[in-house]
Amino acid sequence: MKYCLSPGLFIRRCSDGRFSVTDGKDICARISNADCGLLLDGPDDACPEGRDLISRMALLLQPGTEEPQMQFCSYVRRGAAQISITAACNCRCLHCMASDRSGKMSGTFSPEQFAYILDQCRSVGIRNIDLTGGEPLMHPRFMELVRAVTDRKMKLTAVQTNGSLLTADILSGLKALGQEPVIDVSFDGLGTHDIMRGVPGMEEKALHAMDLVRAAGFPLRCNINVNRLTLPRLAETARFLATQKGAGLFLIMTQPTPRWKENDRGLDLSVSEFYDAGLDVLEAALKERWPGSIHILFMPQVPENRDMSRIFDIWHRRESVPLSMPCYSNCPKACEMIYISHDGRVLPCSALEGYSLEQGMMTGDDVNILKTPLSRILTGSDYMKPFRVTLKDLIAKSPKCGKCPWLPVCRGGCRPGTLQKDMDTACEANCLFFTGGYAERFEKLLT
Ligand code: SF4
Ligand code: SF4
Ligand code: SF4
Repeated sequence: MKYCLSPGLFIRRCSDGRFSVTDGKDICARISNADCGLLLDGPDDACPEGRDLISRMALLLQPGTEEPQMQFCSYVRRGAAQISITAACNCRCLHCMASDRSGKMSGTFSPEQFAYILDQCRSVGIRNIDLTGGEPLMHPRFMELVRAVTDRKMKLTAVQTNGSLLTADILSGLKALGQEPVIDVSFDGLGTHDIMRGVPGMEEKALHAMDLVRAAGFPLRCNINVNRLTLPRLAETARFLATQKGAGLFLIMTQPTPRWKENDRGLDLSVSEFYDAGLDVLEAALKERWPGSIHILFMPQVPENRDMSRIFDIWHRRESVPLSMPCYSNCPKACEMIYISHDGRVLPCSALEGYSLEQGMMTGDDVNILKTPLSRILTGSDYMKPFRVTLKDLIAKSPKCGKCPWLPVCRGGCRPGTLQKDMDTACEANCLFFTGGYAERFEKLLT
């Protein structure tokens, strides 16, 4: 049986990161993160702890209808969608996720398709929209799509771009619509950007785009791929972007996309090399007081105010968790947002786009938002498979996790990433962060 909240009550994530039942004005009940995991990612019918919690909250709950917005199930946790509005791009990046081995993918949403997708998102409580691609500014009716977001009282939270087509007019058009998204400009290293992008002149254009973003007063974030090509000038690049361009930083270990594997030039770093490089950058940022947030893939995000007390509190408490609880991704991309590819497939993470297509995984109508209602995709399709793996399943495959003191925090790590290997196993990169001494070094830097 499905359960729904009483009419007028719903679950929201509060600014302190905790979940609450609310009527929109007041908080009616707090839900611990552990309970939230049970409720929001657990198998609704099979999980005894989830049922127990539901009966404890009986005053707030009533056995329910199938009304999508009120359903008491996984998707209420996902408040954001990252939508690839077009696969078209004017770059030929060595690592592009929106490509498979056969070459560039194609597909562009019409305004009508995009409006339908937004309505589907609204129907499951999604209010925040990121626009990505391909290169989203290649979409011939980009501003029309932003208007559609605005008309639905949704928030444009980010635009992910290579920057080459960004203009002051586009930024003022966004402002006129009341939208001030973070502009994410991909920047793959001083002196190496053009090699990574596969097109000369892109470095200059990206740097110019950053100036436009700052002049218009939008928040700026730079995504930097870290690999053997970009590593020698990584610290210099990060310092320059943070201090001269005012950018928040996201350091990404270049993902093994089909395109990157095809371009294999021995440029991959091991996870420990990536962590060492990332933590060196973090150390410099703290010592030299760079402004802006810093996020190193697989590590918690360090905000502008550098306050990590809530995260470290969770690390120290290590609340015990029931083994029927689902495994967990530490990365908000998987648990708090959905990814919609340019062909309508709903995926747990953009990193899976080319890979899933190549493997024939998550390619059916059951995960396609243009063919199947989103409420059904988020409850009864292949999409949820990685999130249905419980800690018990994990321990059966990885007995070391059952004895590990980090289990309540790590909970198996990134789920979408494990799809590329074996869903029931632990995420090796997350595991190394916690068990390889990196979590301790991270905490020491920030306390
Ligand atoms: S990574 Fe981004 S900028 Fe590069 S080719 Fe792919 S879509 Fe274009
Ligand atoms: S693969 Fe996992 S860690 Fe990487 S971005 Fe996706 S959800 Fe996050
Ligand atoms: S840190 Fe490693 S061993 Fe410990 S629970 Fe996580 S994946 Fe398992």
